[in-house]
Amino acid sequence: MRFTDSHCHLTRSAAEAALERAREGGVRGFVVPGTKLEDAPEAIAVATGREDVWCAVGFHPHEAKDCDDAAFAEIERLAGDPKVVAVGECGLDYHYMHSPRETQIAVFERHIALAKKLDKPIIVHNRESTDDCVEILLRSGARGILHSYTESLEVAEKLLAAGFFISFSGIVTFRSAEMLRGVAKALPHDRVLIETDTPFLAPVPYRGKENEPAFVVKVAELLASLWEKPLDYVADVTTANFERAFSVNLPR
Ligand SMILES: [Zn+2]
Repeated sequence: MRFTDSHCHLTRSAAEAALERAREGGVRGFVVPGTKLEDAPEAIAVATGREDVWCAVGFHPHEAKDCDDAAFAEIERLAGDPKVVAVGECGLDYHYMHSPRETQIAVFERHIALAKKLDKPIIVHNRESTDDCVEILLRSGARGILHSYTESLEVAEKLLAAGFFISFSGIVTFRSAEMLRGVAKALPHDRVLIETDTPFLAPVPYRGKENEPAFVVKVAELLASLWEKPLDYVADVTTANFERAFSVNLPR
């Protein structure tokens, strides 16, 4: 069985041990997204020289206020690296509002334009900003992944119709996430990805621990129970989706 982690924030110092534990558990493809200019070279460094790791560069909405012209030009330059398979993570977050709404929207749209120019997917973060996020994505003509999805089925269906993939993190295993499990059960399997969002959001039964890519198997197990399918089916489908979403091939 081969699993994938579509979203793990691995640092250079933690990467090797965490990747090794994950590979032992069957996780064979990883995407490491940056969140700001300072960690973009780090994401590229983690991916470089590893045939099963790719990365993305961009400004998380928390950091949007720091995305000036010079910083974005550097992101654009780094996005040309062959290990960069997506632009992001980027998006909107009105829960914390670390950057003003107008700034977040302008920076998000800039990332979308870059992704379209490079013909790469975007990795989208959305928290309490769904109306703006969906409106922007639907008129953008971009493709990509909604990471750590927590919204309704109705929203998911709009995004699926526009060609997006939906990625589930450990949140879907949380006891309180009954609504989200209903969404995951109803989605077409060929559009679903799995992720950890390492080091955050460790799934049940690891809640409270630091998350790591090996734990993505717990998300896959949850989907298997919802879909009433064997675990190897979920592994195969989500891995094929990962390869399609990021235009990569896992090493055999
Ligand atoms: Zn993230």
